[in-house]
Amino acid sequence: MSKTTPLLKPIFLDKFENKFRLHGKLMTSTGLHIGAGASGDPLATDLPVVRNAVGEPYVPGSSLKGVLRSAAEGLLRGAFERTDKEGNLSQLWSCDFVGGVPCVTHKRLDAIQKEVNELLKKDKNEEKDKNEDEGISELEAKRMEVEEVWKESCTVCRLFGSLALASRVRFPDLPIIEASGPLEIRNGVGIDRDRELAADGVLYDFEAVPPSTVFDLLVLVDNGRDHEIGLLIYLFDELHRGHLALGGKSSRGLGRVAVTWDQLAEITLNQGSPFTHLLKEEQLLPEAAKAPELPLPEAGDRELWRQIAEHLDSLDAVDETTIGDLAQDREWTKADLINDLSLECSTRKWRETILERLQSCGRLVEMDGSLIPKLAADEAEDDSAVMARRLRPVYQRFVGSLEEVWQQALPQQEVA
Ligand SMILES: [Zn+2]
Repeated sequence: MSKTTPLLKPIFLDKFENKFRLHGKLMTSTGLHIGAGASGDPLATDLPVVRNAVGEPYVPGSSLKGVLRSAAEGLLRGAFERTDKEGNLSQLWSCDFVGGVPCVTHKRLDAIQKEVNELLKKDKNEEKDKNEDEGISELEAKRMEVEEVWKESCTVCRLFGSLALASRVRFPDLPIIEASGPLEIRNGVGIDRDRELAADGVLYDFEAVPPSTVFDLLVLVDNGRDHEIGLLIYLFDELHRGHLALGGKSSRGLGRVAVTWDQLAEITLNQGSPFTHLLKEEQLLPEAAKAPELPLPEAGDRELWRQIAEHLDSLDAVDETTIGDLAQDREWTKADLINDLSLECSTRKWRETILERLQSCGRLVEMDGSLIPKLAADEAEDDSAVMARRLRPVYQRFVGSLEEVWQQALPQQEVA
């Protein structure tokens, strides 16, 4: 006996249930080549990258969607069959849509539509002397059709869309928000299968977006289930770990990206008070701890302290020579500094005293025997550890839900 689970309930796009918005950054860790096809310009690169209307490179949402979709197919096809031993459709499975073998084929879709249309026709033509007193309406017919398609569709098509189902996850194009330098021109040799242009052994160039370029990442999911959000988070994690690559030339190591999330919001209908606030938005990802206001010594000219401290913030380590060099650069005399900073020390110990003051207020900290700016000390804390802490509740809910559905879908062990 197969368990029926509410997760299998059809989700109709005509009825708003909820919306998820995942927002973050996608940063290239290697070069990235997402091709725009032949440039047409004989002097231009053979293989340029895609650019928007103002000439800036971007990541097409469709490229991202394609990579994640085929990874989802691979994951589920590797783990689950379409049906269990009793012939029940699995609740977690995937067809080979990308490979051209969809779960609901054109033929099957036509057949479903025909069946439903038969019902419509029959009820229009026949006398109403049956138990059912009314024929089915056009709307009911459409609903039946969608319900049937939904029932036969795989997990991936239900989320990413198919011939008959609209995609419930949207990937808008990713605009560039931080360029790290000009586009790189790289050389390739051999047949380029995408274009079938360069002959074997012939040189061609291709453009690549350089490493450390940051793109704005937004993913929207309509009427998503927790385990589907879990699947998306997992797939992005695969991308982040370098198990998946974006764009072309991945065999040459291109297309590796890092993904960080800064917002995950769930938007639901506000049942309590529909007229004042129709939609309710809840942030699921805790805010990153705001950088605290950096301290300065109490006594002396604050503006001067600020200038010194901000200069030191940019350095990895600080000592008396640093202070001496800075004073020389800015043409500050030691007498003025002692006076303006209220150092109350001998003229011999002015540099040491400046460092002591900055350390005692917490602007400089001691680490492994040397003085370093507090800012550098904070940055040294592992970013991924901070991120993991913030993501933990989100992982528990969404990836936890995926794990649950996964366990349920696994073939049950025969009990002797
Ligand atoms: Zn499918």
